[in-house]
Order: sequence, then C-alpha cells, then structure tokens
Amino acid sequence: MKFETKAIHVGEEPNLQPGGSGDVAHPIHLATTFAREKVDHPTGGYEYIRSGNPTRNALEARFAALENGRYGLAFSSGLAAETTIFLSLLQAGDHVVAFDDLYGGSRRLLEKVFRKNFSVDVSFVDARDPAIVEKAITGKTRLIWLETPTNPLLKLCDIKTISAMGRQRGIPVAVDNTFMSSYFQQPLALGADIVLHSTTKYMNGHSDSLGGAVVLNDESLYEKIKFTQNSAGAVLAPFDSFLVLRGLKTLAVRMKQHQENALYIAQYLEKHSRVRKVNYPGLSGHPQHDLARSQASGFGGMLSFELDGDIKQAKIFVESTRFFALAESLGGVESLIEVPSLMTHASVPPEDRRKIGLSDSLIRLSVGIENRQDLLEDLENAFGKI
Ligand SMILES: *Cc1c(COP(=O)(O)O)cnc(C)c1O
Repeated sequence: MKFETKAIHVGEEPNLQPGGSGDVAHPIHLATTFAREKVDHPTGGYEYIRSGNPTRNALEARFAALENGRYGLAFSSGLAAETTIFLSLLQAGDHVVAFDDLYGGSRRLLEKVFRKNFSVDVSFVDARDPAIVEKAITGKTRLIWLETPTNPLLKLCDIKTISAMGRQRGIPVAVDNTFMSSYFQQPLALGADIVLHSTTKYMNGHSDSLGGAVVLNDESLYEKIKFTQNSAGAVLAPFDSFLVLRGLKTLAVRMKQHQENALYIAQYLEKHSRVRKVNYPGLSGHPQHDLARSQASGFGGMLSFELDGDIKQAKIFVESTRFFALAESLGGVESLIEVPSLMTHASVPPEDRRKIGLSDSLIRLSVGIENRQDLLEDLENAFGKI
C-alpha cells in the first residue's frame, strides 16, 4: 500500500469474519475492562483499557504504517509522549543534547522538570551544524532530541548525519516530526531511532483533539517505552483515537493544500515592503532550502516573518486578521496567526529568545486550507491597519 491508501485502510480493515460487523469505520470501544473465560487467557487479547484498547491499537497500527515503522504508540498529548520517552530512557546524571530552537513546551519540560527535579543535564545547541551537536555529546549523553523544521524559526537539522552520529555512539536520536507530519518527512528512513508527533497538529488536523504519537523500529526501545506508557498511564482515550483515525484519512490531501497555500503566502510576504524577513523552507532563498529538499518531500504549511515594525504594530497586525484566527497551536485546516514572543514562546526567557534570533515582532502563521486569495487579502488588510 502507498501512503494515501495506508492512511485510510491500515487499522480499519472491515471485519468480515463470521460474527464480525463489517464496520468500515472503526468503532469507539469504551469498555474499561474485558471479560475472560479462563483466568490465564484474556479471551480477546485485552485486559484493561490502559494496557490496551481496540480503538487506540487501531490508531497505533496506523501511526506505525504511516512512518514505515514497526511499532506505534498513542499518548494523551505530544508532551505526554515526550515525558514517557524521557522517563523510559533517562536517569539522574544523564545528559541530553537538544536543538536550541525547540517547541517552547518541550524546552520547558526538559529544563523545568527533568533538569530541575530529576538532575538530567541538558545542552541546547544550534543543531543546524552537525559539528556543534557532535561537540556537545559527552560520555553521559543518553539521548539526542531534534525538531526539524523548528518552531517558530523554521530552522532545519540534518537528520541523516546526526542519526549516524548517534548510531556510532549508541545514543538514540529522536525527531519531533510534528511540523512535517508523516506525509512529508520520514525520519526513521533517514536513520533516526524515535519519531514523535503532537497529533494535536497536522496528524489529526482539525483542532479538536489533543494527542501524541511515537513510532520506532527497535524492539527493546519499544518495550521500554511501552512499559512506561502503561506504568505512567498517559494513554490516548478511545474517542480521541477515533478522531485521529478519521483525521489521518485526509492527511495527504490536507498537507498538499497546506503547502500550496503556504508557498503562495510566503512568496507574497517576501515581496512585501513591510516585511523584513520570511522564514519558509520552501523559498529558494531559505538558507537550508537544499537540506529541506533532500530530507523531506515537502515544506509544510508553517511559516514566520519579521514585521518591519515594533511589538505594538505586531499586536495590531495579528488582531486585525479575519480568517487567520489569533490563536496558539497549528496544523488545523483553519489558518492561525500569533506573536511567538508574547504567546507560544513567552515562557522562553528573553535572552534565550534573542540568542536564537526570535525577535519581538516575529509573526507566525499556520496556513490553513482556505482559498489562498482570501488568505492573502486578509493579510493585505492587516498590513493596511499598521
Ligand atoms: C504542540 C507541539 C508539541 C506538544 O504537543 P501537545 O500535543 O500540545 O502536548 C510538541 N512539539 C511540537 C513541534 C509542537 O508543535
């Protein structure tokens, strides 16, 4: 099966066996416990909802299929998935090398929870240069944590080169693939050990379900993370599993349209007199455009730009759009706009924001799949207001 077919069929093959209902959409199994005939043998293979649930397991099979991985796991949020990975692989005194331009919540989790409460050491480095990652590795490094492209500056790192580096030293490399989704980028094929998604974003795609996914190939890594998934309990609920199963069916068509619209908007912004800089990997002028082309099959629907103005004008701008809703989050069919320094990345200290190049008047767009001309006119109108 090719991607688009797997996105619709894996995990939802109709059961045409005697007694099977033939459902073409997976039922939402709400039972918290499963009866058995004999003490030693769970009759249907299920015991208790936290350990396994048919709707969630269908989704986990699809996650694995879409990343061409062997194992998939579904969590109650992207950060729950990250927490479960950290709890599975790290002990006090261990060291993590992470990209310095991570999703704000991922950085907060590493710094304010794992560094502060569990004495896990973390180095945040500019992973655009693999040599800088290599230099940061110590004898205690147990995990390399990447995100590419990053949020909100759309910086990339070389998954293949850094994964080889980790493999050589026996250090697992994890890639947060939220921005590209399984449709545009497949980190396992490039040598990464763990892929993570906040399914809250593109994978579900409709801004109505919080969730996280982990996909991997290595059996012992999978057993460790699955053990913690069940022990810590941050699993995805059956109803949300159903929503993500449904959302994934249109992932391919959605991503194509997100990208077409984002490129159109990026090219418009690039020429605009009130814009200093546009960050979108699909623009040939993006400093890592070639890397983007070589490791992903597309550029996605996220972009950011520096307004030629101050923070007050940035505020007026984002409060002036009609179709771009002023909101955090991303990856839904509807367009969103925000100011990272005041919203999604307000928890990153100002000096750290400056260090990575995140200016106060940076505006981030999650370009939806509305008509692109409507979106362009919406932005043009906001420029008029400043
Ligand atoms: C949103 C997001 C997360 C966190 O996921 P939640 O589902 O909100 O917990 C992690 N990484 C990236 C890149 C994100 O955009």
